[in-house]
Amino acid sequence: MIYKNYPMVSRVVFGRGSFNQLGDIIEPKRLNVKAPFIYLVDDVFKGNAELTSRISLAYEDHILFISADTEPTTSQVDDLVEQIILNYKDRPSGIIGIGGGTLLDLAKAVAIMLTNEGVSKDYQGWDLVKSPAIYHVGVPTISGTGAEVSRTTVLTGPERKLGINSDYTPFDQVILDPELTKDVPKDQWFYTGMDCFIHCVESLKGTYLNAFSQSYGEKAFDLCKEIFIEDKGTKEELQDKLMMASWHGGMSIAYSQVGVAHALSYGLGYLLGTKHGIGNCIVFDQLEEFYPEGVALFKEMKKIHNITLPKGICAHLADDEFNTMIDVALGLEPLWENAVGKNWRQTITREKLRTLYEKM
Ligand code: NAD
Ligand code: ZN
Repeated sequence: MIYKNYPMVSRVVFGRGSFNQLGDIIEPKRLNVKAPFIYLVDDVFKGNAELTSRISLAYEDHILFISADTEPTTSQVDDLVEQIILNYKDRPSGIIGIGGGTLLDLAKAVAIMLTNEGVSKDYQGWDLVKSPAIYHVGVPTISGTGAEVSRTTVLTGPERKLGINSDYTPFDQVILDPELTKDVPKDQWFYTGMDCFIHCVESLKGTYLNAFSQSYGEKAFDLCKEIFIEDKGTKEELQDKLMMASWHGGMSIAYSQVGVAHALSYGLGYLLGTKHGIGNCIVFDQLEEFYPEGVALFKEMKKIHNITLPKGICAHLADDEFNTMIDVALGLEPLWENAVGKNWRQTITREKLRTLYEKM
């Protein structure tokens, strides 16, 4: 047995208001005055002085506001990299992603593609990246995906929705400031929070489970129950807890895998552009058969927080569209193997997936 030797985020700050320290933290990483820090910031913060006034720009540093309405694509990453290469003579000193999973993944992917030849779609998969990325920093502003801690950056490409999983993907520095999450809209808070809950269930119920993943997964699972069922603590405490749940949930899947909900949700995302958080909720709602206790808890949480999920999103799809989603889902072999075991192909048939998709 060869055990995997995983990198982790090398530095992390945690605390309300810690975002104020960003400038001081990154300044020593400046290579020279011509090598800027490029900030990729969710455009929900455009014109929000409370956040932007705390980003101190020096020399040629620059903020790019980017919409999170659509999830990152390989061509978007390639365009950003080209824009940066054309605009600056020197390679940037660093890339700082500020936002949810969408912006964090963009920052990771851009940092990788600034030092690796070709186009990002060629790196979708496992361990295809050859050169270390440039210095990259993640600042989450919504909690749940675990993208701040993970070894992947999920991109939708021309052929598939798949992560760039590599030792060079994790952030060099993360700033966990739960205060930044205070204005997240309720529904989005739930969807992205449930991403974390689903990571825990898929990890804890998976065949890849081991003590490493279990220890993180159980902690995150308990935090999710405190947050979404027991409502235990002040608003601020709940924000702090969810930020740490996201971190632990992400750590839990580092040494295992996600499962059925993610496999099917990637299919929805690829064909319909359904976003990760809400897509996972729509799928997970139909997965009693695979995760009976987890789905029962999920339904309870939905009820407590008055969440109504869209219905019938697959109602008008044609055969070839179902087939596209099924191809994407079935292509994620490690997820199925984790969820169902080595012989997953015996039970996970195309017809089975079609029936599940038809219920959504
Ligand atoms: P997101 O980044 O797509 O953001 C969701 C919405 O919340 C957006 O409208 C955004 O503008 C808004 N928002 C974010 N912060 C806010 C704030 N503080 N105040 C108000 N609005 C705010 O959401 P997400 O669920 O965090 O990320 C989903 C993405 O993460 C997907 O692209 C998915 O593939 C990716 N993902 C990556 C990993 C990984 O390990 N790399 C894991 C899970 C998901
Ligand atoms: Zn997820």
